[in-house]
Amino acid sequence: MKNQTLSSSHTYHTIVIGAGIAGCCVAHFLQKKGVDVLVLDRSDIPASGGSGAAGAFVSPKIGKGSALQQITNEAYLFAKEFYSQNFAEYFHQTGVIRIPKDEADAKKFLEYEVFNDTSYQKLSKQELQELGITGDDSFLYKEAGVCDAPELCSAILSTLPFEQYAVEKLIKNDEYWQIGEYKTKNIVLATGYQNNLLDMQYMGVKGTWGSRGDYRSNLDLDISMHQSISVSANIKGVIKIGATHVKSKEPCMVCDGEPLKSLFQKASTMVDTNDFELIETYCGMRAGSKDYFPLVGSIIDVPEMFRLYPRIATGIKIKEPIVKIENIFVCNGVGGRGFVFAPLLGKMLAEYIVDNKTIDKRINPDRLFLKWCRKNKTLKR
Ligand SMILES: Cc1cc2nc3c(=O)[nH]c(=O)nc-3n(C[C@H](O)[C@H](O)[C@H](O)COP(=O)(O)OP(=O)(O)OC[C@H]3O[C@@H](n4cnc5c(N)ncnc54)[C@H](O)[C@@H]3O)c2cc1C
Repeated sequence: MKNQTLSSSHTYHTIVIGAGIAGCCVAHFLQKKGVDVLVLDRSDIPASGGSGAAGAFVSPKIGKGSALQQITNEAYLFAKEFYSQNFAEYFHQTGVIRIPKDEADAKKFLEYEVFNDTSYQKLSKQELQELGITGDDSFLYKEAGVCDAPELCSAILSTLPFEQYAVEKLIKNDEYWQIGEYKTKNIVLATGYQNNLLDMQYMGVKGTWGSRGDYRSNLDLDISMHQSISVSANIKGVIKIGATHVKSKEPCMVCDGEPLKSLFQKASTMVDTNDFELIETYCGMRAGSKDYFPLVGSIIDVPEMFRLYPRIATGIKIKEPIVKIENIFVCNGVGGRGFVFAPLLGKMLAEYIVDNKTIDKRINPDRLFLKWCRKNKTLKR
């Protein structure tokens, strides 16, 4: 996909590396601010990474009101408005039912209820049965829904310049970054689990492997649901079953060549899968951070920090401010909720880069640096 012919002498305000949902949303909000953006991806189509494999549910997080639940649900409210106002064709507000995994989980749901800060309705076992779904008393989030992941990413990118380019090196000449023939003032790394263009180990990005199967079916299923796996509503004759659970460093056949077997078995305990006919299998990695919060903001100059503070690993106090690599930013670590987080994070990062607005502490990767230094045994030697 090539949206615009480029001149090699062109200098961009920002190049976003990675055309998954994170990169697409950052680029979208940067463009809204009137700056000149280019998106690069090693693939010639958007959403070739984790984003293409995603079931792409946009639903709230349940729990006991943790800080992670709060930010996830702020992002959820923002995402559903963003998609339904701008990309309604690719966001199906089917509603999403959260079903307890087992009896113990069902007890927890009773405690979670007071922390349900987004609009919801309770569904009894009986009411679920009437919908053709097996499960304990559940929560229904009527405004939640499911995205068509690759189509949505393509639609967001359709107004942006996009080029296929596998970035191997980031070179800075004076005040500009040079990436092959492309020149830019700023770079955003939205590369998902492949977070290795700079020394960013302190962010602790880790991949989790997952799969999705799209099945043709005539099942009358209007609502999507999530238990330990996700099963979408029947949208135009297709039901999507997906989950990400397997921790992995590299994409591999951790599923013994049958990525959908256990997912399909589980789905069969939730809905009637008798007429399901597999159309396509998708596999991909999602990238999470150490503390499950997203990673959005500037990147620390790790070698320079070690030079300035050789004893940093021993827990010495360091003088603020932490040294950053200028004009380079990250948007990553969106875990199993990339489609929930990406619009709000994209907006926040665009405001940080263009308007110099302070980045929200909860997502600022700086939070992980000193802890990482202290825990890293090789640094202590
Ligand atoms: C099976 C499955 C189900 C999921 N279900 C949901 C769900 O229901 N709801 C939800 O919100 N999320 C879900 N997720 C998680 C979601 O998919 C991810 O959080 C999200 O896709 C991450 O987006 P991203 O843009 O950060 O990374 P990616 O989509 O992985 O994009 C990174 C991009 O960077 C490119 N890239 C990397 N390195 C380079 C380089 N050096 N040069 C050029 N390009 C580069 C890659 O080609 C890739 O396109 C699911 C994930 C999976 C795998």
